[in-house]
Amino acid sequence: MHSRRRIGVVRENEPMAASLITIAEARERVLRAAQPLGTERVAIDDAHGRVLAADVRATGDVPPFACSAMDGYAVLEGDADRTLTVVGESRAGAPSATVLGDGNAIRISTGAAIPAGATAVIPQEDVEANDGTILTRAAVMPGDHVRGAGEDMSSGETVLRAGITLGAAELGAAVSAGAAELTVYRRPMVQVLCTGDELRAPGEPLGPGEIHNSNAPMLDALAAAEGAIAGGARRLRDDPEATEAGLAAALDTADVVIVTGGVSVGPHDHVKPALDRLGVEQGFWRVALQPGKPTWFGRRGDVLVFGLPGNPVSAVVTFSLFVRPALAALQGRTEEPSLEPEAVLGAAVRRNPDREQAVRVRLERSNGKLVAIPNGPQGSHIVTSLLGADALAFIPAGTGELEAGAAVALERLPR
Ligand code: AMP
Ligand code: MG
Repeated sequence: MHSRRRIGVVRENEPMAASLITIAEARERVLRAAQPLGTERVAIDDAHGRVLAADVRATGDVPPFACSAMDGYAVLEGDADRTLTVVGESRAGAPSATVLGDGNAIRISTGAAIPAGATAVIPQEDVEANDGTILTRAAVMPGDHVRGAGEDMSSGETVLRAGITLGAAELGAAVSAGAAELTVYRRPMVQVLCTGDELRAPGEPLGPGEIHNSNAPMLDALAAAEGAIAGGARRLRDDPEATEAGLAAALDTADVVIVTGGVSVGPHDHVKPALDRLGVEQGFWRVALQPGKPTWFGRRGDVLVFGLPGNPVSAVVTFSLFVRPALAALQGRTEEPSLEPEAVLGAAVRRNPDREQAVRVRLERSNGKLVAIPNGPQGSHIVTSLLGADALAFIPAGTGELEAGAAVALERLPR
């Protein structure tokens, strides 16, 4: 029989380990395919969590004028125990038009412009105010309590670089810099499809052999947390036509299709043949990873397709390792939230002879060391092993156990 052979496809009689690719290789193939989507302009109010696609420069100095850092009096520098006549007031948003001369003071509020002629501010705590005059109780040096123009940003300075994720601080800085709109990358449209005749919607009573569809809310939430437009997970029945129809519709509308279950070699696993009929080109199938071996990745044009294992923990782990970086790359994100790259293992873990393990761990600090504690039983169906887990710790393939105290690489486990 003629067999079409593609990279990553395992033949029935082939030894399993030979066909598995490493996590790193799989991720590289995903990232090669995930090019940034287009850009759009959005109002600052709609920009939280978006990825900036063009640098932001300050349109003027920030603060735009020299202003007071304290409530007090604008004065000339000088010794203590001067009696000064109060000749005006400079308030935030309402500068004083009076030019300050020797022997005078101008009442000033925090953020108000320093009046012409003044060289410093004396805080009101340091003066004794009488009727129309003040007695300075402290010496005043030039520049005391004055914020210079441009101390925060100088005109033309690059304040935000393309590729960063816009958090609260970035939005504040953009507005200070004079921006009202920002150029951001388009958010990927994600369609989650959960295959399985056994799956029931949340709260639905379960018949014999049925379970609740826990992948749907998890994957929608994870995709949304990564900046994608998600939330419309659908269930597909385990039959070839339903699988193909569901995938066809998703391929026509989404940037990223995430299908769970049905990617193994069981008699009711219809995803791979359906993707093949729909012209989705395979990038890889099967990764030397536990949990998550049967992970599939491919593309049709610019649409990326991930076939994740049905077991909920495997689905979350493989989302984290392969889908999350793709969603970040599609949005042009270059900065990743930081996590220490390494920890020491808090308890021995039995190694898998053929596959690297991604163990869900809690992170604790002990004697200055970051300790990764396996978060309960690690079966790929144990959803509760995800509760409270902070990270994935990687246990290289091998024999015997990786002992407690060994160094392990860490990766963020998104929530
Ligand atoms: P499959 O990859 O379709 O063979 O599924 C592997 C295991 O994951 C089976 O025990 C399924 O019942 C379970 N499973 C598949 N999809 C889901 C889902 N959406 N939510 C919860 N469990 C699932
Ligand atoms: Mg199934």
